[in-house]
Amino acid sequence: MELHAANTNTPAPRKAVHVLLAEDNPVNARLAAALLAAHTCTFDLAENGREALHHLETGNYDLVLMDMRMPEMDGLEATRQYRAQGGTTPIVALTANAFDRDRLACMEAGMNDFLAKPITLEDFRGVLARFTHHGPSASAI
Ligand SMILES: [Mg+2]
Repeated sequence: MELHAANTNTPAPRKAVHVLLAEDNPVNARLAAALLAAHTCTFDLAENGREALHHLETGNYDLVLMDMRMPEMDGLEATRQYRAQGGTTPIVALTANAFDRDRLACMEAGMNDFLAKPITLEDFRGVLARFTHHGPSASAI
């Protein structure tokens, strides 16, 4: 028996967007974490590409924010391996160098988009809107 029929016109609360944040620099990681938390995203942190791959094998993410340059395995190689395994979660590169050749390298590795560091609020919201169900009603910082 359905006891909640009277509530069918009430939109269900949106599930939090779950993000894998792969970033080896603690300052950059804290900034990204603050942006994620302010937009009610939950996240796991990976400090290199190998850790990111491990998280992707075991977790269920809506979006990956992947630093290009990390120790042990960089973001490009982690993305190549993830895509080679058939992984389809959107991956957005984080990089300090917003040059065309970096953008090209990200796309060739199988990334979907690109955020230049330091990440701006506007760019971050654009990525959330494009790659997740998290629309423009995100809470203000
Ligand atoms: Mg780095």
